[in-house]
Amino acid sequence: MHEFSLVKSLLRQVNEIAEQHGATCVEEVKIEIGPLTGVEKILVQEAFELLSPDLPGSDCRLTIIEVPLQAICNSCGKSIVVQNFQFQWTACVSPNIRITSGDAFRLLDVTIDTELTTGVTEP
Ligand SMILES: [Zn+2]
Repeated sequence: MHEFSLVKSLLRQVNEIAEQHGATCVEEVKIEIGPLTGVEKILVQEAFELLSPDLPGSDCRLTIIEVPLQAICNSCGKSIVVQNFQFQWTACVSPNIRITSGDAFRLLDVTIDTELTTGVTEP
């Protein structure tokens, strides 16, 4: 189960951030999933529900941002939004492109509560 281990290492990251800031509660974890990762949103959600009791506090929310697959043409610098995995554009025929978003599963934001402050956001 690919998603399970992804979420597990994600929560390790979140726990480190929470520890660094002396968090008493993790309120929200925001992540980004791109279509190229092949990660199933529903499985991530399930794994999170299973593993999130390890986080400080209770009722930690998971927000998943699904980003589109985007690329930049290295020849003309045009940016391309890729639909249904079809790399098609009309400006030029160069296959020389660079993926700029949509190939990552990553932590975007963690919202924590500490005894001193509330709503500390860590990028
Ligand atoms: Zn081009």
